[in-house]
Amino acid sequence: LDKLYSFMIRLRIPGGAITAEQWTALHEISEQYGTGTLKITTRQTVQLHGLLKHQLRPTIQAFNTAKLDSIAACGDVNRNVIVSSHPQLSPLHEQVYVYADKISQLLLPKTQAYYEVFIDGEKIYERSVEADPLYQDRYLPRKFKIGIAIPPSNDVDVYTNDIGLIAIIENNELKGFNIVAGGGMATTHGNPNTYSRLGSVLGFTDNEEDTLKAVYEILTIQRDFGNREDRKFSRLKYTIDKLTVEGFKQELENRIGFTLQHARPYTFTERSDRYGWLQGHDGKWYYTLFVEHGVIKPHQKTFLAELALLGISNFIFTANQNLMLGEINPEDKDAVAALLSKHQIETATSGLRKNSMACVALPTCPLALAEAQRYLPELVTKLEPLLERHNLLDDDIVIRMTGCPNGCGRPYVAEIGFIGTAPGQYNLMVGGDRFGERLNKLYKEKLDEAQILYEADLLFERFAAERNIGETFGDYTHRTYFAN
Ligand code: SF4
Repeated sequence: LDKLYSFMIRLRIPGGAITAEQWTALHEISEQYGTGTLKITTRQTVQLHGLLKHQLRPTIQAFNTAKLDSIAACGDVNRNVIVSSHPQLSPLHEQVYVYADKISQLLLPKTQAYYEVFIDGEKIYERSVEADPLYQDRYLPRKFKIGIAIPPSNDVDVYTNDIGLIAIIENNELKGFNIVAGGGMATTHGNPNTYSRLGSVLGFTDNEEDTLKAVYEILTIQRDFGNREDRKFSRLKYTIDKLTVEGFKQELENRIGFTLQHARPYTFTERSDRYGWLQGHDGKWYYTLFVEHGVIKPHQKTFLAELALLGISNFIFTANQNLMLGEINPEDKDAVAALLSKHQIETATSGLRKNSMACVALPTCPLALAEAQRYLPELVTKLEPLLERHNLLDDDIVIRMTGCPNGCGRPYVAEIGFIGTAPGQYNLMVGGDRFGERLNKLYKEKLDEAQILYEADLLFERFAAERNIGETFGDYTHRTYFAN
């Protein structure tokens, strides 16, 4: 007898948007295969867990029929490209949005093995196989992440990506992108040579061809210079620090054949999703649904399945693990509102809960040392009375938890970050800013729940009493504990 292997399938959805028909397919596939749970990830896509080995082919084939795939959603390649999801951010949102798809296509591996193994069984050697000038015969040393931000929102945590593009919009015109490189979250407990790093701003490109060229060649540098001896040091951030930012930029300019322009000014003033109803510049309506840690609850799933059958909205995953119901015509808004009310779709509660994020961790992630998505809702419930006592319940404090230091939920750029160290035990990180522009730092090590609540109460009490006017929790803790 073969072992009963269980798998996870994650989709590749650049920019995170799918149609109503694709949602219906996703719903039906998740009912038929796996655990039935749909998990929205921190990279604007969705994954199914608990698929048994014999279910893999039919699941992927069903996705293929719905024009969805999981190519390069995992592995040492460029992963799902994410982009700021809220169309209210700019009338040029659509123009920026299409870059996610263009970059994803540009950086897809050329191998046809996916189709041979999962779709039609036709042998690779019977296909016309393209050479792969990007990945060649070796792929990248490690996974690679790209995010595109549309200021003023940094909902994609642009500095945590291997490549970040910051859209520069002036006078209602897309001028180009600031290019950021070398962000990455993962550390290893007990190995001080590993570290989280925010991306460095390299420069600016003012047209599509140059932008795509720069993105492509950053990958070729990583392919050629990245550490292939030790996977703990193989992300682009280590390559850049080895070459130095200036050295890396020089190598990039040699490869692209032009000099990057000086970075243009921009400002981030938000990172959260904009919950509830908002109208886009196109006159259409968008409803952002709070999905706690991306785990779609059964009543939400029923609601979404009914909505998809009406065919009056599309579905957009956000990088904050929420779901936007999008492109709803004004005449259809009431029908969506009626369904929301029928299924008692709740709006988010406290500022802390609205801004919470957690990775999957136990029991599905083999690397997890502690709980995350199953525990953080419970912990937030215990933190809320403390916030209430200090009159902070509506404060939009960003809190994130991961089950290990790999940092898939980007806890190192949270105002309060928890990193699992052992079952029931977490490192507490504070001092990150609200908009994802500063890393937090270790405040207390290996706390159990009672210690977490004790420390949090003290921090909230001091913050409420000592904060400057308008000061955020992250800025307060940074100023108080780490500024000198
Ligand atoms: Fe797994 Fe660690 Fe990533 Fe969480 S942060 S999903 S525990 S690898």
